[in-house]
Amino acid sequence: AATALATQVRKAAADIAELMREKEQYLGEIDAFAGDGDHGRGMVRGTEAAQEAIDNAPETAGPSQLLKLGGRAWAMMAGGTSGVLWGASLETAANTLDDAAESFAPEKAAEAVAAFADSMVTLGGAQIGDKTLLDSLLPFTEALGNSNSNLPTAWQEAAQIAVQKAEDTAVLSPKKGRARPLAEKSVGHPDPGATSMGMILTQLGTYFS
Ligand code: ADP
Ligand code: MG
Ligand code: MG
Repeated sequence: AATALATQVRKAAADIAELMREKEQYLGEIDAFAGDGDHGRGMVRGTEAAQEAIDNAPETAGPSQLLKLGGRAWAMMAGGTSGVLWGASLETAANTLDDAAESFAPEKAAEAVAAFADSMVTLGGAQIGDKTLLDSLLPFTEALGNSNSNLPTAWQEAAQIAVQKAEDTAVLSPKKGRARPLAEKSVGHPDPGATSMGMILTQLGTYFS
């Protein structure tokens, strides 16, 4: 039978696709100032593909297998830079998980997030301050790794930091990605990838309590 954690992964995949449908227009608008305006569409395509792959997985699939299938579908179907980064990094993070696990042990959560973040850094080659999704993800990862609170609290506090850091990217000028040629038009607006990262990390915090 499916583990409790696998059932949660299936629920999260559906909820996150729904969240991205709700935020699609806004994410497209903030990507249009200096980028190509497709971030909302890309996140919807990616999360819907992930959800579909997870829905179609065998009933007995564990959390690691589900996330691997979801990540692969996301990378393939999203199109765009963020989709490849999200999908491939989810697949990498999935490798740290145990298919038989019934719940998310706190240290396993931090380990999976660290693997996810490392993959984002390695694949994208960006640094903090380049106005990318790393500007919310890396402070989140650090806060989660350093927290002494229980996992639900630690995750929620780290997610609040991620959201704040995404807002703080508004003052920055992009050094990576499609927004770079028109970089100055991006100033005054938050980075789309950092913004969707904050949204998804916040949503994920609702499954731990
Ligand atoms: P594209 O730029 O290919 O149209 P999206 O619009 O879906 O893809 O995603 C844009 C987001 O991707 C940016 O807002 C930024 O957060 C993120 N991004 C772009 N390049 C990189 C990179 N090298 N490393 C990490 N994140 C990146
Ligand atoms: Mg774009
Ligand atoms: Mg694009």
